[in-house]
Amino acid sequence: MAPTRSAPDVPSSAQPSTPPSVSAWDVAQRQYDRAADKLNLSPGVREVLRHAKREVTVHFPVQMDNGETRVFHGYRVWHNVVRGPAKGGLRYHPSLNLDDVRALAMWMTWKCAAVKIPFGGAKGGVTCDPAAMSPRELERMTRRYVTDIADMLGPDSDIPAPDVNTNPQVMAWVMDTYSMHRGHSVPGVVTGKPLSIGGSEGRADATGRGVVYLIQEAAKMLDLDLDDARAAIQGFGNVGASSARFLHEVGARVVAVSDSRGGVFNGDGLDLATLTRHKQETGSVVGAPRTQTISNADLLELDCDILVPAALEGMITAENAPQIRARIVAEGANGPTTPEADDILRANGTLVIPDILANAGGVTVSYFEWVQDREEFFWTIEEINARLRRALLRAFDEVQRMGAEHTVDLRLAAYMLAVQRVAEATLTRGIYP
Ligand code: NAD
Repeated sequence: MAPTRSAPDVPSSAQPSTPPSVSAWDVAQRQYDRAADKLNLSPGVREVLRHAKREVTVHFPVQMDNGETRVFHGYRVWHNVVRGPAKGGLRYHPSLNLDDVRALAMWMTWKCAAVKIPFGGAKGGVTCDPAAMSPRELERMTRRYVTDIADMLGPDSDIPAPDVNTNPQVMAWVMDTYSMHRGHSVPGVVTGKPLSIGGSEGRADATGRGVVYLIQEAAKMLDLDLDDARAAIQGFGNVGASSARFLHEVGARVVAVSDSRGGVFNGDGLDLATLTRHKQETGSVVGAPRTQTISNADLLELDCDILVPAALEGMITAENAPQIRARIVAEGANGPTTPEADDILRANGTLVIPDILANAGGVTVSYFEWVQDREEFFWTIEEINARLRRALLRAFDEVQRMGAEHTVDLRLAAYMLAVQRVAEATLTRGIYP
């Protein structure tokens, strides 16, 4: 039965990045603590990994199109760089704050370790509402932000990538600004770039592709036939839209998707091409032809087999988790589930593919992009996708084995694997001086 509640029409600027009652940093530390307890980490290394190594806040002026000068607040956080250069996206969002960035940086450390990529974890961004800014204003803001954090960046030190509300064009401005300061082109300073300046084949949809590779593995565990399985996807941006497309390609029926203004439902399956066109023309999926409007709350609670939260953190909470009916929750977003919600989902038998595994396809192909930029030799899409699949399936297998060995769920198993790798690297390097 189709749901009947209607969607609130909430503009993206009014949406908090995290519901105020849930601090993303608090969630990240509690998830880490669970793994540290289980691993019995020694107190010293446990304390080291619990904190971000470096946190930079910048306040910088930008000249707006109307001649006014506005001051923006930007951040770049390195959580840990023991295993390699800092890696993590840039987010532009009205409610972005240092706590969010800290949490997102810590999740990047675990994600890179879980899939065995030789990078540390970072995140950055600017508190702004890109929907209310012109392309020229966005460009000036990006170039000034990059200039103000330039001493952190570099292909050997810190390599940003796209995140919420940033895209290949923004990455091109990052690459160009950094290169102008250096006096020569440095493609390896950022990933998720356009192909014309050293981007990689397959990067744009790598995160969604990875989400679906892992849903296929999870479905095997549950003996769930993906052919005609019903999927609901929260967020129809880079990760959500590509997850929808690949789910459709493997035979699933995408019955609902949403964005910051609300959701749409069609029990027979949504026409994804029409939805994409409607979103391009109107800025939202809401109101697309042959769909029924639903709210984001309705979407999470739909009767479906697969749920892909692919919007922001803190969306699945103790309040709505008991109503979630999906058999598989594949976390396209970072941090969409609180620890309390995790416990409820586990008790209800829902299989959660945790963010640090589920959405690791993006950073995996970012790593491939960085390697290609350094080699100045580019791979085919077939090579990229085959290597991506191999990397994610190996990680999924290792996480499953860790889970079976310690009788823990996939999140705790993925965390244990990742934290153990970072702890081992820390102890092997030793504490300087
Ligand atoms: P995006 O900006 O391309 O898309 C975000 C989508 O979420 C948009 O459709 C937006 O309207 C929607 N949204 C925003 N607030 C919402 C709300 N309150 N309710 C419902 N929908 C809402 O961003 P993205 O790059 O697709 O990132 C989405 C998530 O995936 C984030 O958590 C990000 O950190 C994570 N992620 C992204 C990548 C990547 O490669 N881009 C990789 C790994 C993880």
